[in-house]
Formats: sequence, structure tokens, C-alpha cells
Amino acid sequence: MNRKQKTILIRILLTAVLTLALHPLPVEGWARLLLTLIPYLLIGWDILRKAVLGIFHREVFDENFLMSIATIGALVLGQYEESVEVMLFYQIGELFQSYAVGKSRRSIASLMDIRPDFANVERDGQIVQVDPEEVQPGDCIVVRPGERIPLDGTVGCVNLSGLLRIRVTKPFEESTVNRILELVENSSLKKSKTENFITRFAHYYTPIVCIGAVLLAVLPPLFLGNWPEWISRALTFLVISCPCALVISIPLSFFGGIGGASRAGILVKGGTDLESLARTKTIVFDKTGTLTQGVFTVTEMTPTPGWDAGDLLELAALAEVYSNHPISRSLRDACAHPLDLERVGESEELAGSGVITWVDGKQVAAGNARLMNHIHVAFTENTHPGTIVYLAVNGSFAGSIVISDQLKASSMQAMKELQAQGIRTVLLTGDSEKAAQAVGSALKIDEIHSGLLPDGKVEHVERLLAAKPQKSTLAFVGDGINDAPVLTRADVGIAMGAMGSDAAIEAADVVLMDDDPRKISLAMRIARKCLRIVKENIIFALSVKIICLLLGALGKAGMQAAIFADVGVMVLAVLNAVRTLRVDHMSKNSSQA
Ligand code: ADP
Ligand code: MG
Repeated sequence: MNRKQKTILIRILLTAVLTLALHPLPVEGWARLLLTLIPYLLIGWDILRKAVLGIFHREVFDENFLMSIATIGALVLGQYEESVEVMLFYQIGELFQSYAVGKSRRSIASLMDIRPDFANVERDGQIVQVDPEEVQPGDCIVVRPGERIPLDGTVGCVNLSGLLRIRVTKPFEESTVNRILELVENSSLKKSKTENFITRFAHYYTPIVCIGAVLLAVLPPLFLGNWPEWISRALTFLVISCPCALVISIPLSFFGGIGGASRAGILVKGGTDLESLARTKTIVFDKTGTLTQGVFTVTEMTPTPGWDAGDLLELAALAEVYSNHPISRSLRDACAHPLDLERVGESEELAGSGVITWVDGKQVAAGNARLMNHIHVAFTENTHPGTIVYLAVNGSFAGSIVISDQLKASSMQAMKELQAQGIRTVLLTGDSEKAAQAVGSALKIDEIHSGLLPDGKVEHVERLLAAKPQKSTLAFVGDGINDAPVLTRADVGIAMGAMGSDAAIEAADVVLMDDDPRKISLAMRIARKCLRIVKENIIFALSVKIICLLLGALGKAGMQAAIFADVGVMVLAVLNAVRTLRVDHMSKNSSQA
């Protein structure tokens, strides 16, 4: 619990105690009202303040306004305890919600597992362990091997044991680690459309209820007389109308869903993303590293006469030394001996084509046919199955290397699960048609496009976005390497196994902690369950509310009954919302296999 939550808790407890203490006192009338104002203001001052501010900001009709006029109405009616109770339950609900939000944020933070727990600060020649937030810029910290670097700063020295001395340059709040966490945490607060629905709903609901109350207070007594009775009914009507259960259970359900997903290793940034995920009908996949392992083995070497296969591979590995594309990593791994970085000069990576690097003062190009055409090199086409890396040295063709990648063991199962749900699958890849067809037909993918540059992928995604079924969404799944543009463009960008890549975390809406494609359908199941629960809560809370309002208007339900109904709905809605936290274990286990 943070300080703000503790303060509210204390206010709640004090109010409860005060109310109980005031109850038996034998005072009536004005004295009672004045005494009641103590717990009333103690528990409700911030809501009254927000209501007044809302009026100044011309956002009159929100739940604070409703709470305020309803409770003031109760005071006017002489229903002193009830007016305090309404505020009290509302605050309990708010506390509950903020606690749940904090919890799901913490689970996201622990999922990312990058928040440093401590910093070793040098103070007076001693090293003391403190909270990173207590370290000031200018302090010197020591990072031992294996520890996380808790703060930003300049490295003083690295001594032989691998100890790092860092002079801190920024307080923790401004450090990189904290910024990434904030990015994720803030985006988890992005309002979802359903939450907006509640806000939008409040825009209509509050004025309707207020007008209804005014009509109830004025119209019947014009004909039937008995003004006090109808005014009292109108005020009761207002108190009954407070939508506490809705206001509380909806964000809670979303945070529950996000929390449940994070337990399964799926980081969903916000309620909106959960909603989009639940409506996904088209999923576009990247190939390399997403459906395939992204670990290539060299299966064939075809040097041109005059070139030795070993030298060719070494040259390719050197040219690829600065790239983090799966192809590069595989070529470097295939080259058994250590690479001499001194030999490598300037290097340029052309996304979707390959690299051009200066090695030993020679221009080495390594990449696909497109790259060879780009630099106008005549080459012999290699027709082996697999991905072909062509090599050109100083503008003349030197040979080709065939590398092959394998499907992930779980890709088949993942694809079956998605297709069984009626989802249209599309494969977009920068690789050759042959390689694309091999993967596409093994997985029975509906639509396959190959030979694409990153912007070609964006174009396809845009076309698919225009063609998707109404009200459905399109998701793109990539490994975060050179597909950030499509990740952002899709309704739902899913990055997999991208832990540690800030760019992917920033671009994606959903981050899968490992690279198991089965997590996609699990994420969708969690999202759909969460949305179902949100809808159940909305319908349930609204139905009870309408019944109570009718009874209130007829004078059959008093304030006590209304409070009881609302608290009851709230508790049930909250219990229902908590279900979103539970991820069904069957699917969890199957995706861990
Ligand atoms: P995918 O769409 O399958 O993820 P990319 O868009 O990352 O593929 O790359 C498309 C193609 O471009 C690769 O299949 C490869 O032929 C070529 N390519 C990209 N980067 C490199 C690189 N660093 N070295 C060699 N070839 C590369
Ligand atoms: Mg890729």
C-alpha cells in the first residue's frame, strides 16, 4: 500500500469509528447535523472538491457530482448516517480499485524484472546498500558482477574483478530503467474503449438521472400534493442512482485481465489492447524468428571459382558482425573461430535486403537477390531450398551460402488453435518465395506474401486492415527485429521474445515474454474472458440499478435498501472481476510444454 492508499484507509476507519460513536448520542436536529458533518467531510471532502472543480471545468455530470448532490440531498432529508455511508462505501470501492491497479502494475514490473532493488553507495569510504531512490546525483555507486545497474551515470573504472564504479548523474526517477517502467505502467493506464463507454455513459446517465429526480420532485406533487414526500423520494432516487459498482468493477476487470495475462508471461499494455485482442479476426505473422526458430544452419556453400568455402563464410560472418538479424547471428555462429573486429570497417544494414560492410578494405555485400540487384552485381541464382545469402566482394559475385531455418516446434499447434477459432492467417516475409511457401504450406497459412521490404509489409497490413471484417481487429506478430513499423500500424502489435529490446516494447501493444507462438491464442482467450466479465458486470449492475430506481421512484425502496443493493452489486461485481486474474491452467500448461 502506498501513502495515498494508507491515508484513505485511515479516513475510512476514522469515519466508521466516528459514525458508530455518534450513533447512540441523544442529540437531534441542528446539533446532529453539525456532528454528522465531521465524518461526512472527513470522508467526502475530496469528492465534494472534485465535483466543484468539475463545475468550473464545465464537466459537471460526472460521478463526483452525482455523489455530492445525492449525499447533500440525504443531509437535507435528515438521513445523516446514510449520507456518510454512501461516501464511505464509495471510498472503500475506490481504495479497492487503486490497490488492485497497484498490484497489477507491480506484477508487470516484476515481469519485466528490471527494477533494481538496491544500490551500493559509497559513503565515507564504506559501501552501504540503499534504495535506488535515495541515491543523489554525484554519489558514487558500485555494481558487482551479476548485479543490475540501478541508475544512470558515468563509469568511473572497471577493476580486475569486474567491479564497476559509477558516478550517478540522474536521480532514480529520471533513470532509463525507471523510464521504461513508467512507459509500460502509464500505457497500462491507457483508457480502454469500454472504460470510455462508462465515461460516455456518465455523460448521458447523470443528466438523465438528475432530470428524472427534478421531474419526480416537481411533477407528481403538482397533481397529488405532498411536496415533502416527493422531494424526499427524488433525493432517494439520486442516492440510488450512484453507479459505484460500475465505476469500480470495470477498471478492476481490465486490470485483473492484464494481471492474469502477465502471470502467463504475456504483457498487455492497456485495457484497450485487451479489448482489441478479444476482437481479433486476422493475424499477420512475420516469418523469421516468429514462426521459425530464427536459428539458421549452413546447409550448402557454393563459392565461385577462386574462392575457398571457409574464407567465404568468414567474410560473411565479418560483414554481419554488427547486425542483430537472426541470419547474422547464425552466420557468426557457423564460423567456428573468433572474429577479428580490427578487420571490419564501416557497415550499413539494409532492412529486408542484407548488409554492406568494409572488411580488410574491401566492400563486402551479403544479402538476398534484391541486394545483389541493388548494387548491380551479376550473380548465379541458387535454387536450393532454404534462405540464400549471396556474397559480392568489391562488386563482383563471390558465391552463395544456403542456410536453413526450422519451424518452431509449437508453431503448428499454435496455428491450429487459431484457425480453429476462425481466424484468418497471413504470412508476410522478406525472405524468398520458396522459403515462404515452405513455411506457409506446412502451417496451412491462408495468405502468403514474400520478398517484402519493411514498407511493403506495412502496405500489406494496410490493405488487410481495410479488408478485415467489420468491428474486428488485425494483429501483427513479429520478433521485433525490423518490424516496428508494422507493429505500430496493426490494431494490436504483438512482439515476441523481445525482452530487453526497448524499441519493441515501445512499439508493441502486447509483449510475449518467450517466443512461443501458442501464447497468442492464450492471450486472446484471456482477453475474451476479461471482456465477457466486463459485459456481465455492466449488465448486472445496470439491471439492479434500474430496478432500484423504479422502486425508489414508487417510494418502495429507501436509501438503506439502495445502499445495500449497490454494495451487494459492487461486491459481486468485484468478485466476478477477480476471476479475470485466474488464467485457466490447462492452457497455461499446454503452452509451457
Ligand atoms: P522476415 O520478414 O522473414 O523477418 P526480414 O525482413 O528480416 O525477414 O529479412 C528479409 C530478407 O532479407 C531475409 O530473408 C534475407 O534474405 C535478407 N536479409 C535481411 N537482413 C539480412 C542480413 N543481416 N544478412 C543477410 N540477409 C539479410
Ligand atoms: Mg523479421
